[in-house]
Amino acid sequence: MDRDIGGIRCSEVLARLGDVLEGDLLEADRARITTHVAGCVECRRFGVRYADLVAALRTSDVPPAVAAALDARLRVR
Ligand SMILES: [Zn+2]
Repeated sequence: MDRDIGGIRCSEVLARLGDVLEGDLLEADRARITTHVAGCVECRRFGVRYADLVAALRTSDVPPAVAAALDARLRVR
């Protein structure tokens, strides 16, 4: 389960998750991880707490388009 989604692999997403939640990431990296988690069922199954991730992202300066995409995904679920 090491799929490349949004330009980043599962292993990289999981390795950086702590940084995401602490807001300690470059904007480009955060955008890639956000896209990956939104599109990767495997990462969510693996234990990514998606709601926490979204909450963390919302508290930082997420581009409105990204936030809207995440909202849409959550509503679909
Ligand atoms: Zn993944």
